[in-house]
Amino acid sequence: MKLKMMKRLLIASFLIVCSITVQAQLKALIIDGQNNHAAWPKSTVMMKQYLEKSGLFTVDVQRMKYTTNGEREKDFLSLAAAGETENFKEAKIDPDFAPAFKKYDVVISNLGWGAAEWPQKTQKALEKYLKKGGGFVTVHAADNSFPEWEEYNKMIGIGGWGGRTEKDGPYVYYSNDNKLVRDDSPGSAGSHGPQNEIPITIRVNDHPITKGMPSNWIASKDECYAKLRGPAENMTILATGKDISDKAPTDRHEPMLIVIDYGKGRVFHSTLGHDDYSVEGVGFIVSFLRGAEWAATGKVTVPIPKDFPTANKATSRKFELK
Ligand SMILES: [Zn+2]
Repeated sequence: MKLKMMKRLLIASFLIVCSITVQAQLKALIIDGQNNHAAWPKSTVMMKQYLEKSGLFTVDVQRMKYTTNGEREKDFLSLAAAGETENFKEAKIDPDFAPAFKKYDVVISNLGWGAAEWPQKTQKALEKYLKKGGGFVTVHAADNSFPEWEEYNKMIGIGGWGGRTEKDGPYVYYSNDNKLVRDDSPGSAGSHGPQNEIPITIRVNDHPITKGMPSNWIASKDECYAKLRGPAENMTILATGKDISDKAPTDRHEPMLIVIDYGKGRVFHSTLGHDDYSVEGVGFIVSFLRGAEWAATGKVTVPIPKDFPTANKATSRKFELK
């Protein structure tokens, strides 16, 4: 009798553990295919592996059928299980690009500058998905995409290049005396100096994404985007970066980790992630995972690891394909 009870207890606890594990599986979708950055087929696989390894996410990749800059990392194309694609010099509209956004807890864009416009019904589907409470993450050059799409600019808060100017909204930054500035004066949007390690300053330390991070840390070699402009509505800058190279386009602290409320949806915007070595940075990995979890659920359980960068030292993890 005693043995029977124990067996039952064991089975019951096994079932509880199983249900917790199943509940923990958030569904993420990475969208990619058209980017001015040749790293994209690899960085998609890297981000997919990071998300899966966290134990929190299952990941699908939906790729625009007509890709650009797919050659350098062509060996990674098939690893995303995103189907056959054709590579072109110029971005071509994929009239059938229609991800089922609402199946996912978070949608992550690894698109870039020059991505072709989406069919209108796909644009509307992303708007509706987010307004109803979905999650969206924009990585590095994804904030260059779709300059003419008004709602997209609201989702990402600020963006660069593609003809963005003061007509799209203020240039938002932190001054050297730590004041948040919204500059409406005329000017183009988007700039960066040479790639470098980037000193990061946390501006909001009680947000789930940044909570527990050191208030200053060094991001691995990357581009420090500057002069980003946009509607900047319902937007909070969590962290800024300072370009310390001798060719820095500004002497200001530029937004690097940002959150935006769009309807009931949550958007995490990271300007980090220029190349594969940038995406190997522990600062990138951890902020990306925490940002993706927050965009999906509004909460963060991903811990700050022991190898997180410090105020004096960037850290990175060499990528190993699993
Ligand atoms: Zn870049």
